[in-house]
Amino acid sequence: MKNTTTEGKNDTTDSTPSNFIREIIEEDLRTNKYGGRVHTRFPPEPNGYLHIGHAKSICLNFGLAADYGGLCNLRFDDTNPTKEEVEYVESIKEDVRWLGFDWEDREFYASDYFEQLYEWAVQLIKEGKAYVCDLSADEIREYRGTLTEPGKESPYRNRSVEENLDLFERMRAGEFPDGARTLRARIDMAHPNVVMRDPVMYRILHETHHRTGDEWCIYPMYDWAHGQCDSIEGITHSICTLEFENNRQLYNWYLDALDIYHPRQIEFAPLNLSFTVLSKRKLIRLVEQGVVSGWDDPRMPTLSGLRRRGYTPEAIRDFCERIGVAKANSVVDIALLEHCLRQDLNKRAPRVMAVLRPLRLVIDNYPEDQVEELEAVNNPEDASMGTRKVPFSRVLYIEREDFREDPPRKWFRLAPGREVRLKHAYYVTCVDVVRDERTGEVVELHCTYDPESRGGGTPDGRKVRGTLHWVSAAHALEAEVRLYDHLFVKPDPDDVEEGADFTANLNPDSLEVLTSCRVEPSLAGATPGSRYQFLRLGYFCVDPDSANGKLVFNRTVTLRDTWAKIEKAQKN
Ligand code: ATP
Ligand code: MG
Repeated sequence: MKNTTTEGKNDTTDSTPSNFIREIIEEDLRTNKYGGRVHTRFPPEPNGYLHIGHAKSICLNFGLAADYGGLCNLRFDDTNPTKEEVEYVESIKEDVRWLGFDWEDREFYASDYFEQLYEWAVQLIKEGKAYVCDLSADEIREYRGTLTEPGKESPYRNRSVEENLDLFERMRAGEFPDGARTLRARIDMAHPNVVMRDPVMYRILHETHHRTGDEWCIYPMYDWAHGQCDSIEGITHSICTLEFENNRQLYNWYLDALDIYHPRQIEFAPLNLSFTVLSKRKLIRLVEQGVVSGWDDPRMPTLSGLRRRGYTPEAIRDFCERIGVAKANSVVDIALLEHCLRQDLNKRAPRVMAVLRPLRLVIDNYPEDQVEELEAVNNPEDASMGTRKVPFSRVLYIEREDFREDPPRKWFRLAPGREVRLKHAYYVTCVDVVRDERTGEVVELHCTYDPESRGGGTPDGRKVRGTLHWVSAAHALEAEVRLYDHLFVKPDPDDVEEGADFTANLNPDSLEVLTSCRVEPSLAGATPGSRYQFLRLGYFCVDPDSANGKLVFNRTVTLRDTWAKIEKAQKN
C-alpha cells in the first residue's frame, strides 16, 4: 500500500533517520546532561489490552535502556478511574513480560504520586500560577478560542490565592459535585498553542479508583500528571507518540514552574498497520459488540490476540526493529509483520502433516492390514530437530483440493490417471473415483501405489511433479482448525463513506472454522501454544480451547510470503 507520509513538525531536521532518538541520547551522554544516565519508562494507561503499537513503544523504551546500560520503568498512567481496571493492569504486565522485557522492581503508578501532585498544585496556586475555575466543561471549551482566534479569560481567573487555596482544599474534601469546578493552570488565554490556554489540572470525579479507592475525588489530568511522574522517577528521556507534540510545551511549563528535575520529552511516529485498527477505543468496541470473541481473539492486534494466534515474541521484536523509529507518520504493511513471523517460525516450527478438508484415498494394491512407520524429518532447516515416525496404511486422507476430476493446464496434483508423490511415502496413481449417488460429489479415490517408490524416487527414475501431504485414516486424530483473514477488508479501515465508521469495513469472512480436519498422530497431547508447520498449509498453533483430547488449531499465517514483492514495489 501507499505510504501516507505527513511530515511531523519538530525541532530537528525534516528527514530524520530512524535512529534520531539514539542520536539525542548519544549527544546527551557526550555532554553528560543527565550524569551519564539513560532512564526511560513505558507508561500504559490501564484502560485496555496492549496492542502491536504498544509493542513498538515497549521495544523502544526497554531496548534503549538496555543498549545504553540504563533502566526502564513500567509506569501505569492510572489517572482516570472511570475507565481503568485491575484486569488491564494484570494483562499489561503479562504482555510486557511475554515480549521479553523486565522492569525488575520498578513497577510504578501515577496514583502513587497523587499526594505529591496535590502538594505541587498547592505550590502553583500560592505562586499565582493556578486557580479554581467554576466554568463548566462546555464553557471552558467555548472560552478556549480556536487555532486562529485567541481564547477568553475565565471570570474566575483572578481569584485571590486565599480563595483558591480554600476552594481547592474543599474540592479535595468532596464538597462539590462532579464537574462543578476545576483547577486550571494560569498561563495565557491568547497563547498560540491552544494546549497552553489555561489547561485543566484537576477535575472532580466521585469515582472509586482501582488502587486508591475512595481516597480521592479529584483526579489529575494527563498533562499535569505525566511530566511530574517522569520527574519524580528521574526519567531522562520521556519518549511518547507524535500526538503529544503540542503538549510538550505544557510538559516543560509545569516542570519549569515547579522548578524540579526536568526530563526531556521526545516524540516519535506511532505505528499504523494496514488492515488493522489500533485505537483502544475501537478495539474496545470490537470486544463489547461481540465482533470478536474477546481481547485475545486471534484476529485482534492485541499482544494477547497475537500470542493466541501463534506469534512469537521474537517475531514481534524483529518487526519492531525493522520498522525503525521515525518522526513522520506512515503506514506499515501488515505483510512485513507476517514476514517476520514466517522467518522465525520457519526456523523453530516442526513440520507435520494435517489435512484440512479430507478426501478418502484407498490404495487398492496395498495390503489391507499393513502399517508402515515412515521416517519424516521434523525440520529440513534444522537437522538437530530430528525425525519422527509417521504411520502409512491402505486408507489415507488427502486434501480435497489436491484432486480435480477435470484438471486445468499445468495441474501437477492428483487427477484421474495421474501420478503424484505422497510426502515421505510412495508414488500413487489415481485409477478410480467414487461419487455420492445423489449429489455426484467425489467421496473417495482409488489409487495404486508403486512399492519401488518408497522414500520418493523409483529405479526407473521417472519424475512426478506434485507432492501431496496426507494422513493415515486409521491413525489420524480429529481436529478443529480455525482459519483467519484480516479483520478489515480495506488497508485503511477508516476509509468509509460519510456517516459510516470503521465497522463498515469489517471483513465478514475473517474467521472460517473447519471441524473435521485430520492431523498426524504425533500431535496427540500437543499443548496449547505449541506451533507447527502443517506441510503446504501454513503455520498453526494449538489453541487453549483444546481440552479433553480435542485438538483445536489456529492458523497463524499461510506459507506464501508477499513481503519481498511489496518491498520491491515500495522501493520503485
Ligand atoms: P489509545 O490512544 O488507543 O487509547 P494510547 O496511546 O493512549 O492508546 P497508552 O496506554 O496511553 O495508550 O499507551 C502507552 C504508550 O504506548 C504511550 O507512550 C503511547 O504513546 C504508546 N503507544 C500507543 N499506541 C502506539 C502506537 N500505535 N505506536 C507506538 N506507540 C504507541
Ligand atoms: Mg495515551
